[in-house]
Amino acid sequence: MNVVVYDTHDFEQEYLEKANVNSYPVTFLPFRLTPQTALLSKGAKVVAIFGNDDASSEVIEILFNNGVRYIALRSAGFNHVDILKAKELGMKVANVPSYSPYSVAEHTITLIMALNRKLIKAHNRVSDLNFSLSGLVGFDMNGKTVGVIGTGKIGSVLTKILYGFGCNILAYDIKPDSTLTTKYNVEYVTKEELFKNSDIIVLLAPLNPNTKYIINEESIAMMKDGVMLVNTSRGGLIDTKALIKALKNGKFHSVGLDVYEFEQGLFHYDFSNTVVQDDMIARLLTFPNVLITSHQAFLTSDAIENISTSTFESIHQWDTIGSAKNELW
Ligand code: NAD
Repeated sequence: MNVVVYDTHDFEQEYLEKANVNSYPVTFLPFRLTPQTALLSKGAKVVAIFGNDDASSEVIEILFNNGVRYIALRSAGFNHVDILKAKELGMKVANVPSYSPYSVAEHTITLIMALNRKLIKAHNRVSDLNFSLSGLVGFDMNGKTVGVIGTGKIGSVLTKILYGFGCNILAYDIKPDSTLTTKYNVEYVTKEELFKNSDIIVLLAPLNPNTKYIINEESIAMMKDGVMLVNTSRGGLIDTKALIKALKNGKFHSVGLDVYEFEQGLFHYDFSNTVVQDDMIARLLTFPNVLITSHQAFLTSDAIENISTSTFESIHQWDTIGSAKNELW
């Protein structure tokens, strides 16, 4: 069973090689899956793809015509895959449903605390031998109200950490988890109540037609002035234009983004020697109260090891029994 790994990053290749315990022939490609690069899958039965790869209907058809029958996602999210097309062609798709909710929850807290305590500014200032404290005032997390949208695997780990801080936790989820109420006093409310009453709002729901632009002009207007917004889920949850408008009007204490609506083809790549053409990311980077990371919340050695192991487990299950435990349907 030949495997082509698209969009292989230097941070993961050694983990993938180690996880290939059954020695499947693997071609590691450093570039993304696109209609053009899909042609390079010829001869492979499996492609292993990442969150930035294009698995649209057009691409899936090319893969299928090349003989590919299995798509192993090196991610939990699958909003970049045309599932209906893959189904229609009889292809099988598996994801890595839970590789480490801790990695993403802990990065979410990292963003919150860095914004709260103005860590980047403080570091830059001290590096310049400026030891003044003006403009660096933060706030206690204890007693603040944090609204979590999406209390699944990652959101529930986050509520545990927030409970440890002494935060009041509001949550909005289409499937409330009563154990979180028992353990961490999480109060499930409507999304409108969450917007109105939270000091910090965290997005951890998946991107789907119901959550697309859940943060828009109308929902931003409901929020407290001086609210902090953190998105470590998917960029499409936020209407970036509305966000920029509100940032210009001084609505937010701060905004932390690990994901961005137009991140595909941008995040995870080095543009330091070119002129970035995306005016929205350029504008976002000008705000002193916006902290952006390049979709790295998952990036811990524990998570990459789990992703790699799970990817090759799916491949082995397809090879030996024809179906994999983590198939999407
Ligand atoms: P999960 O499926 O365990 O939890 C998602 C939760 O969202 C569920 O409780 C679900 O009921 C809820 N939900 C679904 N639709 C909703 C809606 N319309 N409104 C409110 N809640 C809704 O997923 P997870 O493992 O916790 O991951 C959450 C998201 O985090 C993923 O969808 C993915 O987009 C993102 N993620 C980001 C990174 C990163 O590196 N930044 C890594 C992994 C996952």
